[in-house]
Amino acid sequence: MTAVLDWLLITSWVVFSLAVLLLLAFVHACIKEQERRALVVALLAGLPVLGLFLCPLLLAFPARSIVLAVILAGGAVFLLLLWLPMGARQPLRIVADIEPVDERDAVFHRFYRLQPGSEDYQNYYRAHPQQQKPDEKIRALPALEAPGSKTHHPLTSAYQAACSHVLASCTQQLDQDPQPLGGRPVEASSAEFTRRVKGFAGYLGARLIGCTRLNPAYVYTHRARGAGRWGSPIELGHANAIAIGVAMSHQMVRQAPDSPTTTETTLQYFEAGKIAMILAEYIRLLGYPARAHVDGNYQLMCVPVAADAGLGELGRLGLLVTPQFGPRVRLAVVSTDLPLDADSPIDFGVQSFCAICKKCAYNCPSGSIARKDKGVFAGVEKWQSQQDSCYRYWRQAGSDCAVCVKVCPYSHPATRLHNLARYLVSRNHLARKLMLRADDFFYGRRPPKVPPPPPSWHDRTG
Ligand code: SF4
Ligand code: SF4
Repeated sequence: MTAVLDWLLITSWVVFSLAVLLLLAFVHACIKEQERRALVVALLAGLPVLGLFLCPLLLAFPARSIVLAVILAGGAVFLLLLWLPMGARQPLRIVADIEPVDERDAVFHRFYRLQPGSEDYQNYYRAHPQQQKPDEKIRALPALEAPGSKTHHPLTSAYQAACSHVLASCTQQLDQDPQPLGGRPVEASSAEFTRRVKGFAGYLGARLIGCTRLNPAYVYTHRARGAGRWGSPIELGHANAIAIGVAMSHQMVRQAPDSPTTTETTLQYFEAGKIAMILAEYIRLLGYPARAHVDGNYQLMCVPVAADAGLGELGRLGLLVTPQFGPRVRLAVVSTDLPLDADSPIDFGVQSFCAICKKCAYNCPSGSIARKDKGVFAGVEKWQSQQDSCYRYWRQAGSDCAVCVKVCPYSHPATRLHNLARYLVSRNHLARKLMLRADDFFYGRRPPKVPPPPPSWHDRTG
């Protein structure tokens, strides 16, 4: 009996030490990530639990062995239940032919490109009369960061303008013919090209890279925003696509819906665009057609292409949710005829987690994210966000909002602890439910009213 008790005590001390280490690691992460609420909750909840566990370790009483055995067995069963692959996932379903999209119908492009009074403007609203009144109400609001908008500041508003102006000036010449460096196309296997392209993209700063066959349904039917005539048909015959993702700073995104998040968005669009443009030029120098699709100058929809290329899954908020950074990423794509090995789409449980989470929908200030079940839109079973009300809120807030990105549980930094939570969520429905409750418990169902301060170079107090 004594030997059994000794064994139980040794095992319990080991488990207790691991629990202390886990609490310390979480406290350290909270301090590093400036998560005040999570820090306080962890200490208030964690210390009493550890104290209770300590009692049977330090105090001798008749049923000590039984109590220790129950704690250890219960803990082991609980961990096993969290880890075993259980509970069916709900992968994204394509239920009919995917209907291609006209870029002119995307709200952002209408506002960035259509000039009131122009022929294109009149033609568009003649064809979509129901759209004109609501659009004009939005046009009456100040543009993001412009004088009169909530976020305008003479020193900080220029950050976003600087990033987007430089990107726009670089993207004028995206539709170019191949110009092989050696006079004719370089020959190599698709595996070799894929290795070079991915390696180079990583070197240029891409955090996520994937290749896929380009589904023509994801190519816009008609041009809206980028170079070329509004409404001209798009003919992009490329066979393959390379999806590129860059991560947004967690600190900047936490300022949402305020100006630093807009600065981060424009900077990361620039970073993703830079990588895509250099990569497309590299491929053209190899002798193959290639086009970069970057912010303000797309001929295709980046999110479904990136999902096909295995970068992540479509989330309830309508953005790509990646395993590493959640929706805290910006994307660009290179379409090309360069032979490439395709990656496979991934399923790490996002659809199933989104079905129970709804945190983005609950916190969206404009109610633009669906709270109900999925519907079928353009052949895909998904949650459909309302672009118009989302953009109207952008103009009211003076920033590109991103509250949905900020509150998404997948947006936590890619530390070991958060990665462990992501891993468990990907395996098991019980873990999905528990991690969602834990996220609400530690971080709150709503984000803090006052986020940690932005970097001093971005404050608006001066
Ligand atoms: S960006 Fe803001 S307004 Fe738009 S869907 Fe996300 S939370 Fe809602
Ligand atoms: S906040 Fe929740 S529901 Fe929304 S995208 Fe993230 S995981 Fe899905």
